[in-house]
Amino acid sequence: MAAPTPQDIAREAVKLLTTRKLPPTPDNFQSAYHEVAGTRPLRPFPLDQLRQIGNALPDRTPAQQRFRAQFSKAVTMHSWEDLEKALVLTVRNGSDLPNPTARVEVVEATAFPPELLEQTARIIHHALPAVGNDDTKVVAQAEELVTYLRLDSQHPPTLRKMMADFAFRLSFVAEEQEQIRRQLLALLQTVFEQIGAISPDTPWLQQQMAALAQATQPPLSARRLEDVQRRLRDVILQQTEASEQTHRAQQAMKETLGVFLERLAQTAASSDQYQAQFEDCADRLERAQSLTDMAPVLQEAIQSARAMALDTRRTGEELHRLRERASQAEAEVERLRQELDRMSEVASHDLLTGVLNRKGLLEVVNREISRADRMGIDVCLAVLDIDDFKKINDEHGHLTGDAALKHLADVALKSLRPHDSVARYGGEEFVVVLPDTTPEEAVSAITRLQRELTTHLFMQGEQHLLITFSAGVTRMHGDETSAAALHRADQAMYAAKRAGKNRVVLA
Ligand code: GH3
Ligand code: MG
Ligand code: MG
Repeated sequence: MAAPTPQDIAREAVKLLTTRKLPPTPDNFQSAYHEVAGTRPLRPFPLDQLRQIGNALPDRTPAQQRFRAQFSKAVTMHSWEDLEKALVLTVRNGSDLPNPTARVEVVEATAFPPELLEQTARIIHHALPAVGNDDTKVVAQAEELVTYLRLDSQHPPTLRKMMADFAFRLSFVAEEQEQIRRQLLALLQTVFEQIGAISPDTPWLQQQMAALAQATQPPLSARRLEDVQRRLRDVILQQTEASEQTHRAQQAMKETLGVFLERLAQTAASSDQYQAQFEDCADRLERAQSLTDMAPVLQEAIQSARAMALDTRRTGEELHRLRERASQAEAEVERLRQELDRMSEVASHDLLTGVLNRKGLLEVVNREISRADRMGIDVCLAVLDIDDFKKINDEHGHLTGDAALKHLADVALKSLRPHDSVARYGGEEFVVVLPDTTPEEAVSAITRLQRELTTHLFMQGEQHLLITFSAGVTRMHGDETSAAALHRADQAMYAAKRAGKNRVVLA
């Protein structure tokens, strides 16, 4: 029978864990793996304890000194074999006998070039944060390995074992981190979708959420996540602000309406009261026998009528005032609703295409200029203007024109690198920011985008439409304003138009 492959052993190890109802932690899996394979796991090297022993060894005679040096060297190299050799030979020779011929050469010359070891140490050191510092064991193992790699010399079998052990653990940690990343992203998407779904009567919020959900599609980059965060902050700020104001306006309107109704009830009650008074007067007039009987009744009726007229006028004025206040409050609610719609324009992203808007672009350009300055790298800008866009609008309608803009933005986001930024600068003009890119590389990136547009044609019903654009590319200088760089790229774009369109010109 063929020897089991590592995959067979891993499968069996998982089965063993399931039978024993043990959770599949790296530790449990490792011991199950060794149990199935019949191998022994590498025990952690008790460096501290052995160093302590080494320090306590006597060093009065040359032989003692020699032994002590050999012992320390073997400990530093994590080599059980060398320790054993040192002990056996020293005991056999008698520790007090200075015997130069019996000197044990415990140091096995390493077969690894020092630069390679140093590079490996650096790789481990730099790559570790990428898999997270949550697993304390892998961090400790990495530190131990890095320290070992930086020693003057290494014991090859120990180094091999340490590396294998580290790789083994790292594979679990990396897989787990990848899973965490995927789940976090899925969670974020669900949150955006749900917020969109529970607010059907606020279209601007739904649009923002759809754009956010799209912005968190892989491939991600730290810059893109930064943008998502900024955008979300915008949305939350606006939403809080707007809902507070709406709440206040609604409250004012409710109070006004309350007072209004109260007054109405009062008017009804007082007119009831006047009516009763008049009826009473009428009764008394009917029963009156003489003019003297009638005089006070009439007097009373006249007074009541006067009071009623005054009351009615006052009530009328008050009702009028209240009505005004109510319509003011209503207008305020309407104004706030409109403002809410307008506010999405204040955000850093364009609602139609989902890419950055002018405000978002300026933020990104400023950030990239200072980053480029700090790191001494090139940043390029490209201004893109769709060719003959008027014709698309005229022949297919404005809505198709809008869809074409969205199509271009989508293809640009897919074709450019995750850390490039795309912005809609005006109607059918876009700007691309390309960090860490030379002018030549920027030209070829934009040319590639032109090619992508010929393979991903814009679908208009059954029809395929080819969208082309002309572009100007320029390198941003650390000491210039974004407006100056944009102007230069714009000029180059116009040169591309003059030269026949559908081309890229470097400024
Ligand atoms: P050129 O190749 O010289 O750039 O030709 P062009 O037709 O693209 O010329 P121009 O830049 O002057 O025209 C831009 C047109 O884009 C005019 C305007 O109606 C249209 N446009 C601007 N913004 C929008 C938009 O948001 N949606 C749609 N559908 N059309 C827009
Ligand atoms: Mg234009
Ligand atoms: Mg145009």
